[in-house]
Amino acid sequence: MRNRMIAGNWKMNKSYSEGVVLAQGLARELEGGTGDVDVVVCPPTVDLKGVATVIEQESAPFSLGAQNAYFEESGAYTGETAPSMLTDIGATYCIIGHSERRGYFGETDEDINKKAKALMAHGIVPISCCGESLEVREAGKHVEFVVDQIRKDTEGLVIDDPSKYVVAYEPIWAIGTGKTATADDAQEVCGAIRKTLAEVFGQEVADGIRVLYGGSAKPENVAGFLEKEDVDGALVGGASLKADSFAAMVKAAM
Ligand code: PEP
Repeated sequence: MRNRMIAGNWKMNKSYSEGVVLAQGLARELEGGTGDVDVVVCPPTVDLKGVATVIEQESAPFSLGAQNAYFEESGAYTGETAPSMLTDIGATYCIIGHSERRGYFGETDEDINKKAKALMAHGIVPISCCGESLEVREAGKHVEFVVDQIRKDTEGLVIDDPSKYVVAYEPIWAIGTGKTATADDAQEVCGAIRKTLAEVFGQEVADGIRVLYGGSAKPENVAGFLEKEDVDGALVGGASLKADSFAAMVKAAM
């Protein structure tokens, strides 16, 4: 049994004070609880403390996630954030391998694999992103491309509790473009991801890992994705920047 998950990626949006206001708004929208749905909010690094304080003061029914972390413990890595620093501030999730980090900052599958290991060693749940470009999709190679990413990103990982590792399938051509994959497109790849996870970790573990869809997901279309067997939730960019639209997506998943 996998609890559904709705995770919001604010990307490089919302200053510290704006982030506090958004988190407070979301706490109000969700004050009735989120049922069995796990909700995660991933603000920019400088907003993490402010959102953590809102979660604590308002007993808000969502968890705190970062958008990135480095795999070293500490040291001369200017501008980076160590997993232990995230734990200390109250973050329990961290997005890794987002296509924007792969594309703009040159992150490789090897980096993403090291980040997953470092985060898990500190009890932080990685939300590990994968997904193909339009070129790869048009060449009909999307399934094999994503399966290859999953194999590389999970190499050598030890997963005892499958609720502690999350995969997000985000076709790059659907991120922030308004173009969504169809629910069947999402199921095709999410199903292949689960099959690959079963080959790597065994069926029982694979059956417990949440596989999210991301890419222009919004209140109007999220239910269609959630109906699919291997889609366990959504990673949401644009629609997570307004408390009412993000809360509507959580409610659609309940
Ligand atoms: C994302 O960047 O993780 C994302 C899914 O963005 P959007 O929902 O805006 O397409």
